[in-house]
Amino acid sequence: MTDPASAPAAPASPGFSWPAGSRAAACFTFDVDAESAILAADPMAAGRRSVMSHQAYGPRTGVPRLLGILDRAGIRATFFVPGYTAERWPAVVRSIRDAGHEIGHHGYLHESVAALSPEAEEAVLIRGLTALDAVTGQRPSGWRAPMWESSWSSAGLLVKHGFGYDSSLMDSDLPYLLTVGAAGRLVELPIHWSLDDWEPYVYLPDLSGSGAIASPADVVARWTLELDALVEAGGLFNLTNHPFVSGRPSRAAGLESLIQHARSIDGLWIATCDEIARWVAQLPLEPVDDRRPELPAADGPG
Ligand SMILES: [Zn+2]
Repeated sequence: MTDPASAPAAPASPGFSWPAGSRAAACFTFDVDAESAILAADPMAAGRRSVMSHQAYGPRTGVPRLLGILDRAGIRATFFVPGYTAERWPAVVRSIRDAGHEIGHHGYLHESVAALSPEAEEAVLIRGLTALDAVTGQRPSGWRAPMWESSWSSAGLLVKHGFGYDSSLMDSDLPYLLTVGAAGRLVELPIHWSLDDWEPYVYLPDLSGSGAIASPADVVARWTLELDALVEAGGLFNLTNHPFVSGRPSRAAGLESLIQHARSIDGLWIATCDEIARWVAQLPLEPVDDRRPELPAADGPG
């Protein structure tokens, strides 16, 4: 097995640097899906009270516990909040704001926008903005695609509506700039399925998971390996947790131990997504001009 401490440095990215004294960065993020992620997939689940209570655990019990962990650690985090969650749990969402954490946009009813027309996607974006503004009085600077399913229209819509960053793509260890249209720029803060708590932990009969629920000891060990390797590679550790998932006691305790480990690493900048995006936006980077793949023409008859 390769020693994580010997992980190779990230491929050169001309113009990229971290703030003075930092060699890598970490952001601890929380997607406050609550009921929305299940209702988007299956509206009939609204009638399943136990399923809804499984999701309500996030705002009702998980968020207060996680806010306590972040407060004890003295770090600020980013909470991506669907508009529907803000409307259903306004006091909880305001408690996140009042604790000094960043609130980002996470759809309205956690829609998978890859399946939407550009017009429908824009309507969802605006509805989410309206809900967050009504509850928090703030306009988010960042967006994370629900289900981590963005579309080829998403970046353009985010620039049009004044966002500074996206956190939905998976093709780099480092943040980067995306080209949007002729002159638009959007910071990308990449994510990855291996740094998400849903896959190892969630089980909802008929809805999600296999019933094989991982031990927090194993999950935190896996995340620690990736954190240490990304630090050596000079990258961004962008961890996604859900309050309904990792707000439960042993998982939250595991996350707290991981945060303590992160805080002990020399040269690791722990910041919100907004802080990291503002740093990256002013770097002299060549933007990535990524395009939808064109399918090859079908062979003709014969
Ligand atoms: Zn989500």
